[in-house]
Amino acid sequence: MTDDTPTDADEHDPRADSTSRTDGGTATGADDVTLDPWGSSTIADYRKLFEEFGIEEFDSILEAVPNPHYLMRRGVIFGHRDYGPVAEALRNGDPVAVLSGFMPTGDPHIGHKLVFDEIIWHQEQGADAYGLIADLEAHAARGLTWAEIDEHARDYLLSLLALGFDPDDGVLYRQSGNEEVQDLAFELGSKARFAELEGIYGFDGETSVSHMQSVVTQMADILYPQMDEPKPTVIPVGPDQDPHVRLARDLAARMRFFKITEAYFSQELDDDERVVVAEAYETLADRADDDQDVRCVHGAQYLLDPQTVDFDADRPTVDSPAVGDGVRASAATKLQNAGMEPLRPRIRFLSRDAPDRAFEALVERIPGEKRRYDEHVDAFDLSFEEAEELARQVEVDTGGYGFYPPSSIYHRFMTGLTGGKMSSSIPASHISLLDDPEDGYAKVKSATTGGRDTAEEQRELGGEADKCPVYELYAYLLSGDDDDFAKEVYDECVGGERLCGDCKEQAAQLMKEFLEDHQANREEVAPMLDDLDIELESPRRTVAGEADD
Ligand code: SF4
Repeated sequence: MTDDTPTDADEHDPRADSTSRTDGGTATGADDVTLDPWGSSTIADYRKLFEEFGIEEFDSILEAVPNPHYLMRRGVIFGHRDYGPVAEALRNGDPVAVLSGFMPTGDPHIGHKLVFDEIIWHQEQGADAYGLIADLEAHAARGLTWAEIDEHARDYLLSLLALGFDPDDGVLYRQSGNEEVQDLAFELGSKARFAELEGIYGFDGETSVSHMQSVVTQMADILYPQMDEPKPTVIPVGPDQDPHVRLARDLAARMRFFKITEAYFSQELDDDERVVVAEAYETLADRADDDQDVRCVHGAQYLLDPQTVDFDADRPTVDSPAVGDGVRASAATKLQNAGMEPLRPRIRFLSRDAPDRAFEALVERIPGEKRRYDEHVDAFDLSFEEAEELARQVEVDTGGYGFYPPSSIYHRFMTGLTGGKMSSSIPASHISLLDDPEDGYAKVKSATTGGRDTAEEQRELGGEADKCPVYELYAYLLSGDDDDFAKEVYDECVGGERLCGDCKEQAAQLMKEFLEDHQANREEVAPMLDDLDIELESPRRTVAGEADD
């Protein structure tokens, strides 16, 4: 571990709150954060993900989550996009789904277990759960042969089942075997342009078409849970997958028939203009005897000079034309052009090239007062939420998808046992769920620690649990749901009461027991695999240039 790696140890000091936290995952790595789904997945500084990519801190929503998982409580799940609707649906028992996918490029390991656990937890909380094998992606983007893929696919499914995924109440599939997903991928592809994939993934003229197809396939995976019925859906993944999540959110929006906005008069406002017009409206509606008296031209007057608004003038005019830059001037210009049109809050349904039958149905179904224009319709008696709901219903009833933008949660990458990144290509750096329990034991025993050079120093200064891959094992896996135990290990370590030899012995023992249990469970659930409606052997042929099996 390098010492120049910034840590957020202050925010994550477990002594500061009641549950145990970890800073694990701020491993060595480049300073620049790039999110590359097919590249190296080390993240030097998680804070940059918030600042540069707009991922939100999970902590800010933790309270809204019913019965949060220990990975959430301990900050291992550190970020999210738009998890609010998922948390709300979980709280209310409304329809909600979870889905994640696995590229079968090697054995499933303890990093994958985080995602398995996240899927299973959401399933236990009532979500429709989906797990998929990204075999098209592994073939196209990683060049795995179908035989290799088949072998590993089985292992991922077995571990997911062994950890508690309920297949009677959830869906497992392979990308290659899911025709609905591939049909949806085709449709989504009509909304994605090559230049966009170039920008997001660095694709160029040398990128194979199959690789591109694997991207739209993943987009379809992500939206697949909404095929029966639109519903909030969470995608638990590592932050390297965020580019996929953002694209899926964009594509979901592009499939929609209507966009809902708040409006005040016939003209469109941008987000900043809307704020100042809202302020003008609120103030003027207060000042006027009757809020029907408030006209656009008053709004323009207000924005140019809040004091001079005259409701009694016969036909008020704006003395000086609204020139200048800035939001107030541009909003005033629009208001001025609308003249004596009433200034009145409303919900606007903008048609995004909706089919006529959908637009007609929408106009018909809007309750209360409404006003219809060419490309939009305004509703005066609906809340924003009611409007969203109605637009979605109409869209689904007239043959559209009505997708919610998918949400995501992000977990920290585990540090490799040898320091640096945990990598499937370095066996000693990770523990496979298929490792012989004795090997698992041995790998933990020889792991790097956050310990000091000598026992005396350790007693005096305490260990550096925040930089210790062994502590991470406790926090991410070995403590299970027992926060007190994780906190005890942490406190004893940083307090100098715990020495690395004993600590590793205990962790190694727990790891061995975990692997024994898990592998016994795998055997027990093996017969379930046969009952699954999933092809375990790909009926595919070999293409010239493919690796030998
Ligand atoms: Fe890591 Fe345990 Fe040593 Fe602390 S005592 S540094 S947690 S191995």
